[in-house]
Amino acid sequence: MNRLDAGVIGLGAMGAPMARHLAGVGLLAAVWNRTASRAATVAEELGVARASGPADLAGRCNVVLTCVSRDEDLQEVIAACAPGMSTGDVLVDTSTVSPTLTRRLAQQLSGQGVAWVDAPVSGGVEGARNGTLSVMAGGDSADLSRIRPVLEAFAGRITHMGPVGSGQATKAVNQVMVAGIAEAVCEALAFSEKLNLPSERLIEVLAAGAAGNWFLDHRGRTMLADRFEPGFKSGLLLKDLQICTALARELDCTLPMVEAAIADYTALVDAGGHDDDTSALIRIKRATDNGKH
Ligand code: NAP
Repeated sequence: MNRLDAGVIGLGAMGAPMARHLAGVGLLAAVWNRTASRAATVAEELGVARASGPADLAGRCNVVLTCVSRDEDLQEVIAACAPGMSTGDVLVDTSTVSPTLTRRLAQQLSGQGVAWVDAPVSGGVEGARNGTLSVMAGGDSADLSRIRPVLEAFAGRITHMGPVGSGQATKAVNQVMVAGIAEAVCEALAFSEKLNLPSERLIEVLAAGAAGNWFLDHRGRTMLADRFEPGFKSGLLLKDLQICTALARELDCTLPMVEAAIADYTALVDAGGHDDDTSALIRIKRATDNGKH
């Protein structure tokens, strides 16, 4: 592959800033989004083509980068994209989906000479905006080398974890930690409200010690101020945790903390919090502090 021409499918909270970084380094050729108005806005802002559909986008690019919500969405997008892809093209998937689906879709595309790199990311919308995401890559090392400049456009770190699916397996491990940290921070801050502690000083002193972490730094103040704009949607974390438990079942092991987080996030989503940032978990923790739901 000589010149890289990348196209982005899925211009949500993560995909749009990734597209901006790709345009910034001159690698973005086209964009497509299911809700057409979003694609129109981004295409106009970045001065790139707005594809008429996934296959049209694939026909204009040799690297197709996807960033959609869940397994079934990726499956739909790949089915629509495949007719436009040719031998030598690479599909780079930055969505968080199951490793099992990843391997199946990669296998399908390999039949038409298309390579797959799973490249889920961590670092939040701030990481996407700042171009500092941590990328967990799975795939053939030659394929990863070819498309590395695409990932470098928005990554602070790119780590090759092994063959196709290893990136998504790593992301599942990441999400176990993300959920545990959210559980701990939201429960602790709900508790601090009961103790009437001064919130700004509390966050500063906690962040400076052993309890300090990204979630506290980036979401502590906003959650105490009752602001939950995404961010990372709670419904998407719940989807990730279901991927983790499905993987655990395959391995005949259990993830008790993830089960607890699933119960809490299910309660949050059932109460209308699907699109609220994952820090909205504090609402559930406030309600359970005294044993009442
Ligand atoms: P988002 O803001 O909700 O955006 C989702 C994107 O996927 C939208 O562009 C949406 O199109 C598109 N989409 C969903 N279903 C589709 C379908 N069936 N066909 C075509 N397009 C479809 O979500 P996000 O936060 O960007 O997350 C995207 C992925 O990155 C998820 O897998 C998420 O778990 C992962 N992730 C998110 C974060 C984070 O902090 N937000 C961090 C790391 C990883 P419409 O505009 O038409 O709805």
